[in-house]
Amino acid sequence: MGSLVTALASYCDIKQRGGSWHVRIDDIDPQRAGVGALEHISQALAAHGLLGDAPIRYQSQRLANYRTACQQLTALCYYCNCSRRSLQGLRLYPGNCRHKLTYAPDHTLRILADQQPRSFEDGCKGRHDFVATADFGDIIIWRRDGLVTYHLATAHDDALDYSHVLRGEDLFAMTAPQIFLMDKLNLKPPQYAHIPVLTYADGTKLSKQTHAPALNSATPVANLGRALWHLGQLAPPKGASVAQCLEWAVAHWQLDVVPTQLAPFREADYR
Ligand SMILES: [Zn+2]
Repeated sequence: MGSLVTALASYCDIKQRGGSWHVRIDDIDPQRAGVGALEHISQALAAHGLLGDAPIRYQSQRLANYRTACQQLTALCYYCNCSRRSLQGLRLYPGNCRHKLTYAPDHTLRILADQQPRSFEDGCKGRHDFVATADFGDIIIWRRDGLVTYHLATAHDDALDYSHVLRGEDLFAMTAPQIFLMDKLNLKPPQYAHIPVLTYADGTKLSKQTHAPALNSATPVANLGRALWHLGQLAPPKGASVAQCLEWAVAHWQLDVVPTQLAPFREADYR
């Protein structure tokens, strides 16, 4: 349900602007992305009428692009093999490895932060100012296991492929480092909007870890109605089909009435 709420919000927002909606699967980490889970996501989206205007994009198919992006940044980077344990409790990387400029196996690649003030305007949360050295420091753009990091892959794709990114507030903290990377790659950031994520009444996020019930794809109209309710939007007319629900939702979509905290998820409402 949490994923449906965010997907529906991004769908309505961009459709109302006359744009097209795209689905991207961030599957760069083979350990985390189960093939069955991906199949389930596309089926669930389709059952709710949420079809992308272009074929689904997979980050796992763009590794060569990320490698090129990484090469553009290497002059600003150094190799780091600090153990996670040695960095425990530190908010910012202390720069121990800044002198390591030549490749060595089992090292991550970190990019030097700078002191330039930057800012972005979030469609929900307003203006946000940040300074790389103070706010996130030298972030990792390439992992020691040879994989691109989420930051670099996402910064690359978001800047190149999209005009607008609407996503959950849990990713808000990622935005500043990603904009920093876009800037270093000479790419223009998209317009961001971060909406609150669906939580239980006690504030915990719905996820597999918190044993959130799976979305029942057999009741798409009811689910869409619920999702709109969580988002503070008007209810679609009774008896509407999935397509009519979406049409209604787009026509009546108002980003500025999405509450700063969504009405919590109560499992009893879904029985
Ligand atoms: Zn290090």
